[in-house]
Amino acid sequence: MINAGGHRAQAADILIVGDTIAEVGPPGLAAPGDATAVDARDRLMHPGLINAHTHGHANLAKGMGDRWTLELLLAAGPWISGGRTLEDKYLSTYVGAIEMLTKGCTACYDLTLEFPLPTVEGLEACGRAYADAGMRAVLAPMVAEFSFYEAIPGLLDALPPGLQKEVERLRLAPGDATLDAMRQSMQSWRFDRTSVRSAVAPTIPHHCSDDFMRNCAVLAREFDVALHSHVQESKAQVIVGLKRYGKTQTGHLQDLGLLGPNFTVGHGVWLDHDDMRRLGDHGSSVAHNPGSNMRLGNGLADVRGMLERKVNVAIGTDGANCSDNLNMYESMRLASMASKTQGPDTDRWLTTGEVLAAATEGSARALGFGDRLGRIAPGYKADIVFLDLHNVNWLPFNNAVNQLVHTEDGSAVHSVMVGGSPGR
Ligand SMILES: [Zn+2]
Repeated sequence: MINAGGHRAQAADILIVGDTIAEVGPPGLAAPGDATAVDARDRLMHPGLINAHTHGHANLAKGMGDRWTLELLLAAGPWISGGRTLEDKYLSTYVGAIEMLTKGCTACYDLTLEFPLPTVEGLEACGRAYADAGMRAVLAPMVAEFSFYEAIPGLLDALPPGLQKEVERLRLAPGDATLDAMRQSMQSWRFDRTSVRSAVAPTIPHHCSDDFMRNCAVLAREFDVALHSHVQESKAQVIVGLKRYGKTQTGHLQDLGLLGPNFTVGHGVWLDHDDMRRLGDHGSSVAHNPGSNMRLGNGLADVRGMLERKVNVAIGTDGANCSDNLNMYESMRLASMASKTQGPDTDRWLTTGEVLAAATEGSARALGFGDRLGRIAPGYKADIVFLDLHNVNWLPFNNAVNQLVHTEDGSAVHSVMVGGSPGR
């Protein structure tokens, strides 16, 4: 078994009581007579990977695009994700949950979209998909007041009149209606909060008014849930932010009072050092999505800079509409590789240990499960992945952490346990 921070895999027995790890010890650990034994010989056990940024509604779009920037992707959003029935919403979420589970990921932070506003039934369908799959999730309705076409200064005016009319029809619901819908959903939440819990995701700061952003934070405080927003992901976003606020988006979010331990920046590719310091000082997280950042041409995030400024770094895949798979092994590998392309100073490169820590403990903290997920240790939930050491990825077996991050691609996943139960 291996945890982040461990250099060598240790042979171990794990005693699970209910859904929680009670004890970890050398082989031969005492167990109650009626305990069920799971044979993990020739298996490497690692904490379930945690996907800190994905989009359940985007799972039907894998492979639909190639040379798309973020802005082209957002412009195509209604085509990619619109016109969904409740069953579509369930299935889109469910297919992603199955992909993540079968690729060693046991929990995710899902920023899900409904048009023109979130609904109690829609969020219930998405939550049910995770509950049915047997996977943990933080489900955050991705909300805004302004569509992409309205949020980019001058874009609407630049469209031909015919197209302007069509785009008019894509208006989102008023902010108050959206906030009411989220409140209703949280009040009637029917899932066990340790398995599927809600959060609030104002999608991109300049797609929202300042009042709306503040009210999202008030709602998150009221229901003790997390906040997540896409911040400084693309250069265009940075420019719009500077133009609109006269400062970086992160600086503006700090002024609005949004930064805190429950706040996660999605991406943060273009954070400057002051932004990183702001996030670090507030105990906030960044969900780093290197696959999406490369695929959309957004650039490479300075993760070393974030860690130096005490930002909690988590790792995600982003949605299948811009990463085309939800493979956290691949995200870890890309996080390592992306850091190593940024300069010749090897001290600034991420180690495989740092990457594994981000994809387990760091992501757990971003999801608000920091003391319960991300480690195989007493008191933590029994979310464990069993890798088959006979798989070619582990022949030969040289170094558990290096191979987990650089070699494993999901094909050695033998089985996955969530809360002591096999993922379905
Ligand atoms: Zn995203």
